[in-house]
Amino acid sequence: MTAFGPTMPAFSELAPGVRRLLAPNPSMMTGPGTNTYLFGSNEVAVLDPGPVIDSHIATLQEVAGAPIRWVLVTHTHPDHSPAAAELAKQTGAELLGRPAPEGKHQDMTFVPDRVLDDGDRLAVDGVEIEAIQTPGHASNHVCYRQTELNWIFTGDHVIDGSTVVIDPPDGNMKDYLVSLARLKEFQPAALAPGHGELIHDPDRSIDWIIDHRLEREAQVVAAIKANPGLTTMELVAHVYKDVDQKLYGWAERSLLAHLLKLEDDGAAIQETKRWSAIL
Ligand SMILES: [Zn+2]
Repeated sequence: MTAFGPTMPAFSELAPGVRRLLAPNPSMMTGPGTNTYLFGSNEVAVLDPGPVIDSHIATLQEVAGAPIRWVLVTHTHPDHSPAAAELAKQTGAELLGRPAPEGKHQDMTFVPDRVLDDGDRLAVDGVEIEAIQTPGHASNHVCYRQTELNWIFTGDHVIDGSTVVIDPPDGNMKDYLVSLARLKEFQPAALAPGHGELIHDPDRSIDWIIDHRLEREAQVVAAIKANPGLTTMELVAHVYKDVDQKLYGWAERSLLAHLLKLEDDGAAIQETKRWSAIL
């Protein structure tokens, strides 16, 4: 989560009827901040309004320049959805997405007026926005495809220049890989991530992420074969040799996600929280 590129502009018109406003919440986890997207000119749908930051909510309404009729969210992590309820309160917009599951790091204030299923479409100012269910980073994650441009707005499913955290039990590595392959089926012209710049080579970027995860998985298999009977935390040093010790907490979550996938695949087994390979 450290490889984000140079500073991004606060506001950009990316294509006719597609605008991006950067939320002022930069951090190690969010890079330059959360990207809020606006669809439409005569009527507007807002995607991922970010955390509750009054100045951002006000600027969004200013730059919209037309009634905000819908607020869409990709998922209910604290850097993506909390401003949705407030923005809907101020504008009367309809909230669309999938409800927050129980658990930590979830924005329970997000309660959709309309729950989106895979393939659901919303007409916004003459263009269609299609929901693509993409569980993995979060169980309720939805990507949105602007069908005319064939751009996919990827939230935290794919971000620019970095990998995302898969934090079990809500995060699921097996689902994540399936959802990545799913995106490729649309042959998108570009990916518009929740953090960072537009991605113009979607196929290469998605392949890189899949390869990176499978490489890590191979390291995990090698580690549990060489060191059977270790706990997840004890395995971190064997798998994440390249990671700073300060990040071991996050590494442990990712490692657990890999181990649970291997267990599901029938390649690993845990007994009293100690892992071994099934040869
Ligand atoms: Zn997230």
